[in-house]
Amino acid sequence: VKGLSPAERLLKDLGVNDPKEIDLEAVAWTLGARVKYRPLDRCEACISGDMERAIITVNSRSPRRRRRFSIGHELGHWQYHRGRILVCRSDDIGRGRRNASPPERIADAYAADLLMPAYLFKPAARAYPKLDFTTVRALADVFDASYTATAIRLVEIGHAYAVLVCHGREGRKWFTSTPGVPERWFPRKDLDEESSAPDILSGRTGDDAGLRKIGADAWFDRTEAGRYEVLEQTISVGSDEILSLIVIGDEEMLEETESFSARRR
Ligand SMILES: [Zn+2]
Repeated sequence: VKGLSPAERLLKDLGVNDPKEIDLEAVAWTLGARVKYRPLDRCEACISGDMERAIITVNSRSPRRRRRFSIGHELGHWQYHRGRILVCRSDDIGRGRRNASPPERIADAYAADLLMPAYLFKPAARAYPKLDFTTVRALADVFDASYTATAIRLVEIGHAYAVLVCHGREGRKWFTSTPGVPERWFPRKDLDEESSAPDILSGRTGDDAGLRKIGADAWFDRTEAGRYEVLEQTISVGSDEILSLIVIGDEEMLEETESFSARRR
């Protein structure tokens, strides 16, 4: 079928027509890989094997949805980086298209396609017109994926124009954005006190209940940001880690800019 990625074509070939039918261990088996669960200290998952057969080991201490994504990630390595020994740390898996090294990004994209194939994900997402964490949570339950993986998928698939940022105690960890959001909207490393994000990170307050309006300069360190407003919502995911959705509604922010034409003049 046209327009399907390799992972999506595989699911189609297996007759998967419902998110509940995505059985990752069965998918692994059809690809010649066996999945084992072991407590791992130094990594989240790894794959070993020759050119024909592989064993994927996933950290048994991680939450179930995280383990599912890790299996998809290792299967991506199996499909694209066969014959190489790869050990994937927790920080290598599931960080969005703008961050990790190329092999990790390819493996993440494969995992996202396997857990949330576009041919099922896009129709399911259409039932939730608003891009916020209520939508993320609902779709995460449908696809049995983590909030982080689901939020990345929604933003990257173009549900609405948005930037998704992950912060930890040491500042920004990674971010991703919808294709079409200009490169100049590169999120700040620190958290602005105007935003509710610092309080959610420190545990002083709970998750934001919904999107709220805030000056774009709270998130983007550019003079022109002072002219715009965006919508923000932050939730905590795991210990010492928050996810913030910054939804861009102002079409002027999406224009590829005046600063380039100004420079050219
Ligand atoms: Zn990896």
